[in-house]
Amino acid sequence: MDTQEISELKELLSTPKNIVITTHKNPDGDAIGSSLALYHYLCSLGHTATVITPNEYPNFLKWIPGQDTIIKFDSDTKVAMSMISEADLIFTLDFNHLSRSGDIEAILAKSETTFIMIDHHQQPDTYATYTYSDVGMSSTCQMIYHFIEKLEDLDKITKDIATCIYVGIMTDTGSFKFRSTTSTTHRVIANLIDIGVDNTCIQETVYDNNTYSRLQLKGVALRNLRVLPAYKTAYISLSQKELDEHHFKKGDTEGFVNMGLSIEGVVFAAIFIENRKEGIVKISFRSTGDFSVNEFSRNHFEGGGHHNAAGGKSNLSLSDTVEKFISILPSYKNLLNQ
Ligand code: 5GP
Ligand code: MN
Repeated sequence: MDTQEISELKELLSTPKNIVITTHKNPDGDAIGSSLALYHYLCSLGHTATVITPNEYPNFLKWIPGQDTIIKFDSDTKVAMSMISEADLIFTLDFNHLSRSGDIEAILAKSETTFIMIDHHQQPDTYATYTYSDVGMSSTCQMIYHFIEKLEDLDKITKDIATCIYVGIMTDTGSFKFRSTTSTTHRVIANLIDIGVDNTCIQETVYDNNTYSRLQLKGVALRNLRVLPAYKTAYISLSQKELDEHHFKKGDTEGFVNMGLSIEGVVFAAIFIENRKEGIVKISFRSTGDFSVNEFSRNHFEGGGHHNAAGGKSNLSLSDTVEKFISILPSYKNLLNQ
């Protein structure tokens, strides 16, 4: 986003607008954090802003300031559709291809309004009028901070905005440890703490919220963990039956894929989670080092994401999906053993 585009956006935002902020399906901490941070900021400028998510988000995010105003497209479709059709501006956050917006895709694709994309995933599409894409960024939340900085409005970052931004940087960096965490990320975090963010409380609220059944489900995941030393690969599968037996709720499997990656010598980890309702197997991939799970997922499982963290899906059964995964590995043997 160059200075010309920034001054155009400043001009656009200088008079009150109807603004919709939307994000990807199955929104995570970065999606919800960035959307709500922008929501609070735009409201403070005098705009009418609404966050619309494609569907539900995890319970561990149901305390973030402003989350009670979020409209879920799948349960409040009519209201969401009319807001989208009346929007002067639509911000799309934490995704870069309209297909990631689930059931909202069709209506977004039809809209002729001004789109602004803010995102850090690989291979951005070109649907937006204004694109702020940076694959080197830790999170979309960090980009929201820099976006406000570019608009010379850092002094407008309230404790609520800072809290929303903190959540997404924290969750997308695995609490400031992934390679995308730079010294700038830490400086942004330091500024957020100076603004009043209660960092310890946020860590505890998001991560120390296990239920007994979630811990039991984690036990099942660990029991199902398989390691393929020849490919430095580990994977976990969870069936719908196992999820049901442990009263699975959205967000309960968050972070499970990292257990495989934490094994010494493993550079590639996957988790396959059956979703009978959608008739798919949802997959998460993680890697360390040079192996690109973005490319792997794009090539074989209709997905994508980042170099070291990506997602995808399969329409095969759970066992056939795992079988397909294992059958692909030999062609990556050299890459995985570099
Ligand atoms: P997760 O495995 O935590 O669901 O997602 C890891 C990363 O990959 C996130 O940045 C997420 O937005 C992205 N991602 C997850 N699922 C998909 C997918 O189906 N397609 C694409 N393009 N990206 C995905
Ligand atoms: Mn993100």
